[in-house]
Amino acid sequence: MIQWIKDLHANVFYTFRGRLAMLYVVVELTILLIAGLLIYSLLSRQVYNDVDEELYAQAQSVVNELNHSDFTFWPFHVREFTNHFNGSVQLVDTNGDIQFTFGKNLLQDDTGGILKALKQAMTGRSIIFVSTETLLRADNMRVIAAAVRKDNEIVGVLLLGRNTQEIQKIFKLLYSLGGFLGLLSIVISCVVGYMMARRALKPIGQITATAKAVSSGDLTRRLDSDVHDKEIRELITSLNSMFEDLESNFNAQKRFTADASHELRIPLTILKGEVEVALRHPRSEEEYKHLLGQHLDIIERMQRIVNDLLTLARADAGLLEVVQKPVDLSLLLQEIAQHHLILFDDHKIQLEMDIDDDLEILADAGHIERIVFNLLNNAFKFAPRNSTIYLSAHVYENEAVIMVKDQGLGISPDQQKRLFDRFYRVDDARARQSHHHGGGAGLGLAICKRIVEAHGGAIRVESALGKGAAFFVHLPLNRL
Ligand code: ADP
Repeated sequence: MIQWIKDLHANVFYTFRGRLAMLYVVVELTILLIAGLLIYSLLSRQVYNDVDEELYAQAQSVVNELNHSDFTFWPFHVREFTNHFNGSVQLVDTNGDIQFTFGKNLLQDDTGGILKALKQAMTGRSIIFVSTETLLRADNMRVIAAAVRKDNEIVGVLLLGRNTQEIQKIFKLLYSLGGFLGLLSIVISCVVGYMMARRALKPIGQITATAKAVSSGDLTRRLDSDVHDKEIRELITSLNSMFEDLESNFNAQKRFTADASHELRIPLTILKGEVEVALRHPRSEEEYKHLLGQHLDIIERMQRIVNDLLTLARADAGLLEVVQKPVDLSLLLQEIAQHHLILFDDHKIQLEMDIDDDLEILADAGHIERIVFNLLNNAFKFAPRNSTIYLSAHVYENEAVIMVKDQGLGISPDQQKRLFDRFYRVDDARARQSHHHGGGAGLGLAICKRIVEAHGGAIRVESALGKGAAFFVHLPLNRL
């Protein structure tokens, strides 16, 4: 029993639908109460007015007759009136003696109201109404007291009383009907309110269940967006897209970790194998030097990957150190190009430059150098013998746009979409083979993108298979 009350309490006060239903009831109750009071007061006033008017007219007609006739004829006149009067009549003379009574004795059992009216009527103050409820208990009366005159002198008072039981019966019926209808409508609105709220809130339960499932690891769960209410549908749509992001972020994270360990495991395995081979039997100093040199290459490669990963992790955490200073981009690009000229020349690759003068950007020179270095190296990797690599820098709409273009294999649109992802390599098999020879881990462009974005710029690629590739780096100009 106690538990039942507790449950009800929890359901009504601590659920939205319970409170909504309760609000319905309170509002409805208030409206009903106000409406009831209004109807009652207007109606009762109207009804009693009607009664009073009728009594007044009747009293007037009797008094008129009495005024014009002889004292001895009074009982006759009054009796005649009572023939068609449904109530009580009393005639009192100035001495206070009751001359005539028909129906109830109005003056008897009176608590003072009628007597007072009688006295006032005696003084000639026109006509007085009294309502009495105590008169003979159940017999509620509306009483009028009117003075009777002879030769302009008051000689008595006529009391007419009308039973109001009929009216009260009707009112009683009205009360119970109103009460019943009110109660019924409250119950109905309570139930309807509760049901409507439950229906509207049903998706909330679904949302809660799905959110719980997602947070406990079932990342593929989605909400059914086939919901009637627009607000809920919008909520579901945004939640679904949040789940989508969550899943793809989670998967990316998983992939990243797997890729990272994979990238490090391969060189580690190779290193281990080579060290084992080196230790198998004694060797000359020359041989050791040669082998250790090879080991150092592998270690450097691993170091590069770890450094790259660190850079990316820092960028993810918003900790990438970017010290922005005015940088003469024109000069910087020329310097970087100088470094590559000999290497390019060895492979019969031309470098063609078209760099605007006095390009100044606000940037971290080290980072910018790294980007251009990366792009030139990539271009070099894919440039065939006797081809040209272009390096240009121009101003375009308040931005410095650096372009590095080669005449190599090019990159298909599908590959372009993922080009800037971590560990993405266009030709995985071939890239893996080239581990020994400094093939990248697929982190270079990902880092470029992070750095460019940290500078408020953008990087993009234009390419088609077999048509070479052009990388564009947009950086905001330093405007002073
Ligand atoms: P990595 O550090 O291994 O070079 P990147 O992020 O720099 O990785 O490049 C990602 C992939 O994009 C590489 O697999 C590479 O084959 C491809 N790629 C980069 N630059 C070019 C280019 N100029 N032409 C064709 N493919 C390119």
